[in-house]
Amino acid sequence: MLEVKNVSKFFKGLVALDNVTFTVEKDTIQGIIGPNGAGKSTMFNCITCFFPASKGEVIFEGKNISGMKPHKITELGITRTFQHTQVFPELTVRNNILTGQNVMQRKDRKRSKEQLRAKIDEIIAFVGLESLEENLGKNLSLGQQTKLAIAISLATEPKMLLLDEPAAGMNPEETNQLVDLLRKIKKMGVTVVLIEHDMKAVMGLCERIVVLEHGKKIAEGSPKEIRNNPKVIEAYLGSEELA
Ligand code: ADP
Ligand code: MG
Repeated sequence: MLEVKNVSKFFKGLVALDNVTFTVEKDTIQGIIGPNGAGKSTMFNCITCFFPASKGEVIFEGKNISGMKPHKITELGITRTFQHTQVFPELTVRNNILTGQNVMQRKDRKRSKEQLRAKIDEIIAFVGLESLEENLGKNLSLGQQTKLAIAISLATEPKMLLLDEPAAGMNPEETNQLVDLLRKIKKMGVTVVLIEHDMKAVMGLCERIVVLEHGKKIAEGSPKEIRNNPKVIEAYLGSEELA
């Protein structure tokens, strides 16, 4: 579904991504892991053209999307969340989701107000924010804000969802809820690419995992292969994350 081909990203003297190649299969959850500064978020920025890759290509459903405008990429079906969860603090849950839906309306102008409202109801129930729909974004807990950020993304009706460390700062209960939600999203037919530090969540959710370190891909494989890969163990040496 997605092919990242020889992508590099340079910031002045710094090589944030160095000739990275991998693919994402449709209807899977793919993990991207690696120490801080490895280039994970930069990879999402290159895929979505939040900023373009310096070299290489990104192919989505057979189409070269390198250098396209970010809104065009959203319309093609790729939506992402940012590392530090972003919701609109002064908007209600419902109106936050409406901002995502505006993209969808551009795709399909024929939908009636009732159909659009029903779609938002469905998304609110899907992520489990029913009792909070009139609450302001700023009054939600971190776990609820993450659900809302995902709900905003789902309102764009993506084919592929890119999530940048959604479990950051969550307690175990919130992380479990997130894991369940991501399984449901995959079942719904949305392919997921997940950057995540919570190894239990990554290993439990992902069919395949790509490991980045200092901008390079150092490993790729199933959770079991990754867990036993000496390069990966070394990259994480001194951190308890793979324990
Ligand atoms: P990760 O998400 O794996 O922690 P990042 O992709 O955020 O890593 O960063 C990779 C490297 O690129 C880091 O050294 C970071 O400082 C640098 N970097 C990321 N974004 C920018 C930017 N907009 N300008 C300059 N350097 C950046
Ligand atoms: Mg990051």
